[in-house]
Amino acid sequence: NNACNEIGFLIESFNIMAEKLKENENLKQEYEENRKALIANISHDLKTPITAIQGYIEAIQDGIVTSPEKMAQYLEIINNNTVYINHLIDDLFLFSKLDMHQLEFKMESVPIKAYMHDLMTEFSFELQERGFEFHYTDDMAEKYNVVIDRKRIYQVIRNIIGNAIKYGPPGALRLETRLYKSEGFSYLTIRDNGPGIPEDKLPRIFDRFYRVDSERTKDLMSTGLGLSIAKELVEAHGGKVLVESVVGEGSCFTLAIPLSTEKGSGHEAYSDN
Ligand code: ADP
Repeated sequence: NNACNEIGFLIESFNIMAEKLKENENLKQEYEENRKALIANISHDLKTPITAIQGYIEAIQDGIVTSPEKMAQYLEIINNNTVYINHLIDDLFLFSKLDMHQLEFKMESVPIKAYMHDLMTEFSFELQERGFEFHYTDDMAEKYNVVIDRKRIYQVIRNIIGNAIKYGPPGALRLETRLYKSEGFSYLTIRDNGPGIPEDKLPRIFDRFYRVDSERTKDLMSTGLGLSIAKELVEAHGGKVLVESVVGEGSCFTLAIPLSTEKGSGHEAYSDN
């Protein structure tokens, strides 16, 4: 009976091992497919602006451009395309660093209310200057701290607000942001009155290179990397990025960051790596 049990146990172990190996194999395959898709995407995304740059330079060289206005226009297009390539390479660089766990975070304990106040004042100034409506509501009752890399969280918020500007109604963008606390987390909501995102596309917007409407976003400095980077950066803080959206009404992105359990509002350095 004992021997039977042992054999049964062995068989069971082998089955589990075989299953694990198969899972591993599937993971490897999935990884390999992701990697191939990634390279195809990068190649395509670099090829498009480079082809455009080449075309405009050739036109200038061929003497097609006769007026200074036309020349200025062509140079502007060339410049926009190089800015886009630069932007794409920055994103890719950040992405591969995140992927290889080589991105260094300068973590420190930060009083969230003051941090957000400063940030939102800056955004408010910038956006109102550009003719957009911007509101910030601070419902953070007490002084709480979060352990964050200030620059990275700033980058995440800039990404989300940048999208609202990119996809929102050009002359009539309205942004509403709100800070509050709930169950050990600090929440920042960023609500826009943009076109919204269809429900079936919503779960995919955090995927690498995913664009809801790649035709429409072609000219918008769109890499499809912004939100996937934002998500990874926030997750590295133990937080989350959530989204709700209604087509024709707008989108609302929520940034959840765990509150520090340590008391006090010191600025002592806290090294993660
Ligand atoms: P990118 O903006 O570079 O294309 P993101 O990863 O930042 O990439 O966003 C992915 C996609 O999600 C965008 O291409 C866009 O279609 C959609 N999206 C993101 N933010 C918004 C928004 N505020 N309103 C409408 N669509 C959005």
